[in-house]
Amino acid sequence: MHTSELATTLQRLYGTNGEALAGLMARYEQGLAAFGAEYGPGEVVILRAPGRVNLIGEHTDYNHGYVLPVALDKDVLVFARPRPDQQVRLANVEPAFTSRSFIISHDISPCPIGDWANYAQGAAQLLEREQGPGLRGFDALIDSAPPYGVPRGAGLSSSSALTVAMAVTLVALNGLNLQGEALADACGRAEWYVGTRGGIMDQFISILGQPGHALFLDCRPTTDGPAGARHYPFRQVPLPTGYAVVVADSQVRHRNTGPHFNRRVLEGRIGVRLLQARYPGITHLRDVNHLPWDELEPLLPEVIHTDELRARGIDPDALLDSGVGAQTDTFYVRRRCRHVITENNRVLESVAALERGDAQTFGRLLREAHASARDDYEISTPEIETLVRLAQAVPGTMGARLTGAGWGGCIVALVRQEETARFAEQVGAGYAQETGLDAQIFVCHSAAGAGEVIRTTV
Ligand code: ADP
Ligand code: MG
Repeated sequence: MHTSELATTLQRLYGTNGEALAGLMARYEQGLAAFGAEYGPGEVVILRAPGRVNLIGEHTDYNHGYVLPVALDKDVLVFARPRPDQQVRLANVEPAFTSRSFIISHDISPCPIGDWANYAQGAAQLLEREQGPGLRGFDALIDSAPPYGVPRGAGLSSSSALTVAMAVTLVALNGLNLQGEALADACGRAEWYVGTRGGIMDQFISILGQPGHALFLDCRPTTDGPAGARHYPFRQVPLPTGYAVVVADSQVRHRNTGPHFNRRVLEGRIGVRLLQARYPGITHLRDVNHLPWDELEPLLPEVIHTDELRARGIDPDALLDSGVGAQTDTFYVRRRCRHVITENNRVLESVAALERGDAQTFGRLLREAHASARDDYEISTPEIETLVRLAQAVPGTMGARLTGAGWGGCIVALVRQEETARFAEQVGAGYAQETGLDAQIFVCHSAAGAGEVIRTTV
């Protein structure tokens, strides 16, 4: 392989130089050697898909609202070689993920829930259905090991990075004409295969990410795309110069969040039904962002129970997808809706602030978003509170908040560039002292979106 060609490509994709670039080069070269050891000599295509961190806009996506994620330079790498048949063979540099193989078809039987092959099978089944028949398979080695890989289960969307990585591999090796928004939309649907009905944010940012930018994404689909296709408005928003986006992983993993998450979804939908009494045209909380809260508040009780909802002709059981349960009859409608509505407005204000380079205002919005997530949406944890408090106390921190669905995971902070070392030191030491846990803290160098890196031989 031409080392200089790889170096130039990696510089462009990750925006790195010097020591950091040397480390990345070593990662790619080791991956290539491991691929050769697994599958023998021959051609190799290298592809990648990044994880992401959401700057602001939490739990807004399923309410047809706004989000503002950034693509990480932490990513899933795929070393792949096309096969003449429809088989896919997967190996992983991390021994915990033992090898898998499957045949691409319209109906690929899922592995048990949680199995890592499902992310590849979901991508393959969807593309075979929509772009096939007869997609060619491949032999691949996956590398998302620390420190360059996407941390798993931390709310940085390793699952979507893996799904997208598998999809871009199939697209590249089959010469499919599918990219950008259409590919992101397909990947969103592909991930449903694993049994979670997520939104579209993670796949969009993994594909459309650009260095130095966040992606302002409107999660309400319109049908004004080409040939009436579904379309999500988005726009690249510059990150402020002189500041770093810093992520701190609490190391606490979300556990058993299913019913809690579903409850939040349901509370939003109940809110919409209650608001429809006065605003019959609305379908999602997004539709009332522009109205003064004083007008909405009296329509949304602080707490409401199933009996009372039924008396008003609203059946909570019918508001969630079939088979999904909220396991409660008590709904905190007012505060949940207040979070979603104010959060949508905070995203809009954040975009405006970033577009005029106003880091001060953006920092304040991050702090307000955290308070709203903690008090109104109630998705924080003691460990996250500790991290946010320690982060806010560092001079040079403009704002900090929990990021991701909540109940553990990471915080994100905007920090003056020259204070990032102090941030890592102070927050890391304080967190260890208070919790006994070792927070993983890193600066997010926003990277390019998913795609092919280079074609070479091994
Ligand atoms: P998150 O997306 O927040 O990281 P998820 O629970 O949605 O958390 O996804 C984590 C799962 O994704 C892992 O349990 C694993 O099945 C799969 N996964 C992600 N990255 C990899 C990888 N590099 N190799 C194998 N499996 C992976
Ligand atoms: Mg995930």
